[in-house]
Amino acid sequence: MNNIYNYTLDELEEYFLSIGEKKFKALQIFDWLYKKRVKCIDEMTNIKKDTLKNIENNFKFDKIEIVDIKNGKDVKKYLFKLEDGNYIEAVLMIHNYGNSLCISTQVGCNMGCKFCESGRLKKKRNLETYEMVQQILVIEDVEKLRISHVVLMGIGEPFDNYDNVLKFIRIINNPKGLELGARHITISTCGLVDKIRKFMNENLQVNLAISFHAPNDEIRNKIMPINKRYNISELIGVIKEYIKKTNRRVTFEYIMLEGINDSKECAKELSILLKGLNAYVNMIPYNETNNIEYKRTKNEKIVEFYDILKKNGINVTVRREFGSLIDAACGQLRSKHEEE
Ligand code: SAH
Repeated sequence: MNNIYNYTLDELEEYFLSIGEKKFKALQIFDWLYKKRVKCIDEMTNIKKDTLKNIENNFKFDKIEIVDIKNGKDVKKYLFKLEDGNYIEAVLMIHNYGNSLCISTQVGCNMGCKFCESGRLKKKRNLETYEMVQQILVIEDVEKLRISHVVLMGIGEPFDNYDNVLKFIRIINNPKGLELGARHITISTCGLVDKIRKFMNENLQVNLAISFHAPNDEIRNKIMPINKRYNISELIGVIKEYIKKTNRRVTFEYIMLEGINDSKECAKELSILLKGLNAYVNMIPYNETNNIEYKRTKNEKIVEFYDILKKNGINVTVRREFGSLIDAACGQLRSKHEEE
C-alpha cells in the first residue's frame, strides 16, 4: 500500500478521478494533510464516510520516528528510524532569516566522496517521497515551529533519487501543500550532469548547489569518484547551459581540506575556471570526522583562499559553522549509530 504523503496534488486528483470521485477531494485531503496537519484520517471531518473508507483501504499514513536528538547552539540534529528499521538524519539550523532544515534523500550514498561519512555506508535504498516530506512534518510538530528553508544536503545524492525528490519538491512547494517558496529550497549535487540537464527543464525556481571541492580534474578525481564519470569540463558545460536556460545563479560548494585543495594555486585556478560565470562560491570549513586522512584547513589559510577569490572578482562567502560539535556533518550521526 502506498503512503498518502507520497502523492503530489496532481497524483491525488488523478486517483480520485480514477475512482469516479470529484477532483476537488484531492484538494480537501491535501488541506487536511498539510494545512490542518491531521494525525489520522478520522479527523477529516468534511469528507464523506465512503470516501474516508476508500482512503483508509488504499493508503498508509505511517510516520517516521525520531529516535535521537543532539542539541547545539542554534542547531539540532535528529536521527530518524524508518519503518523498515533503517536510519536517516536531518539537521535544523536556526538562522536570523528563518529555520532551515537539511534533509536526507537516501539511506546511505553511492557517490563515494572520500571525505564524506555518508559514503562510507553504501546506499541501501532511495527514500520514498513521504520519508522526505515527513522529516519536515515530524520536526515541525515536535518543535512547534515552521521550517522556512529546506536544503537537500543530508545523507544521499538527491539526483540519484531524481523522481522521488522531484515529487517531494512539488509537494512542499505547492501553495496548497507546505507552501515553501522555490527560492527557499536548495538541491545540492555532486555533479550528475545528465540529471542537472533534466532538472533545468523542470521549470522550477529551486536553488542549485554543486559540491565542487576542487579546481582541476587531478584533485577532483582523487576525492570525488563521480568526476571520473563527468569531469570538470562537462560539469562546467552543463552549469553554463543551466544558467543560460534558468537565468539563476549557481552555488559552488568548496570544502577546505588541509593540504589537498586549499593552496594559493588552487584558489587562482578556481578563479580562472569560474570567471564570468553567474556563480558564487560557498567555502565550507571541513567538519572533521573519524576519517583521519582529512583535516580542516586552518583559519589563516581559509582567509587567504577567500582573499584570492575576492581579488579575482569571484562572489564568495565562508559558511558559518554549525554542526561540528554535534557531529552534524553529513552522515556522521548515522554512521556512529550503525557502528555501535
Ligand atoms: N550528495 C549531495 C548532497 C549531500 S552532501 C552533494 O554531494 O552535494 C552535502 C554537502 O556536504 C556536500 O557539499 C558535501 O560535499 C558536504 N560534506 C560532506 N561531508 C562533509 C564534512 N565532513 N564537512 C563539511 N562538509 C561536508
